[in-house]
Amino acid sequence: TLQKPAMLEEIESLLSRHLEPGERLTVDELARAIDEHELVVHYQPKVVRTNNDWQVRTAEALVRWRHPRLGLLPPGEFLPMAERSGLIVGVTDFVLTDAIRQIGHWRQRNLDLGVAVNLSPRLVQDLEFPDRLGLILREFDATAEQLTLEVTEAASLDDPDLVMDIFTRLRVRGVGLSLDDFGTGTSSLTQLYKMPFSEVKIDRLLISEIPTGRAAATVVRAIIDLAHNLSLTVCAEGVETSPVFEMLEQAGCDALQGDFIASAMPASEMEQFIDVWNGADHTLVPVVRKK
Ligand code: C2E
Ligand code: MG
Ligand code: MG
Ligand code: MG
Repeated sequence: TLQKPAMLEEIESLLSRHLEPGERLTVDELARAIDEHELVVHYQPKVVRTNNDWQVRTAEALVRWRHPRLGLLPPGEFLPMAERSGLIVGVTDFVLTDAIRQIGHWRQRNLDLGVAVNLSPRLVQDLEFPDRLGLILREFDATAEQLTLEVTEAASLDDPDLVMDIFTRLRVRGVGLSLDDFGTGTSSLTQLYKMPFSEVKIDRLLISEIPTGRAAATVVRAIIDLAHNLSLTVCAEGVETSPVFEMLEQAGCDALQGDFIASAMPASEMEQFIDVWNGADHTLVPVVRKK
């Protein structure tokens, strides 16, 4: 098959965003955006296996940039730059504060919801982070148990001992730690059993291959069993169809997230979604064993 030249793709993407060729998002622009509250946080519900049902218990906070000219930009467009420039520290504090404040809002409306926040590799090596987080939790009267931090890479970083120290401080406080995007790229088996994680999140690339063949489903089942044997819970991300939902249900997956359930949405829409979802019947489908 012919590959589209990278330059053509770049031009297409620039045109689709009404950027002039050569125009780029700049670090200054992002710094200003943080100060002027152009960043917004959307929430994607995650459903958790209860007795005989799936219920919304947490939501993942996902940052977007409401750009004055370009509209709503996904994190992939500006987080790499934030990471390189160090602005990721400000972005993360913003997202964490929004998410933890949201826990309080939901509680006032009688909703007991936790949040998951993505933590960049840089913060995972910031020894001051656990104390800063403690201050934010206290400010909004939230408990550490209502927060999960999702990290993608840890063992591959320069100083695994430092990362281990920070993770331990977070876990001792009661914060959940999730190994994100497991099964692809930088998420390794080593960190799964060496680091004090509480959850494994199977990457949506792997989940997306479940319908196309037996191998992906076999790998997913093995990850679920391995995680359970290590006393970790398992969440699958990118659940887009009913057959995939049912396959994961039967494989014993503990939590599911994806467009089949709901895409990320403004916090204000969560309440209505939860009313509808938690009010409906999601009785677990009985396991049908094929011979
Ligand atoms: P992630 O943590 O693996 O988050 C899941 C991504 O998959 C989100 O994309 C979500 O919208 C998308 N997704 C969920 N379900 C489905 C589905 O069924 N189908 C498809 N096609 N996509 C689905 P998003 O919001 O664009 O975020 C991309 C990545 O950016 C995240 O991947 C995370 O690594 C990073 N990110 C997002 N917000 C933050 C943040 O506040 N801080 C940091 N450090 N990273 C963030
Ligand atoms: Mg994540
Ligand atoms: Mg993920
Ligand atoms: Mg992912």
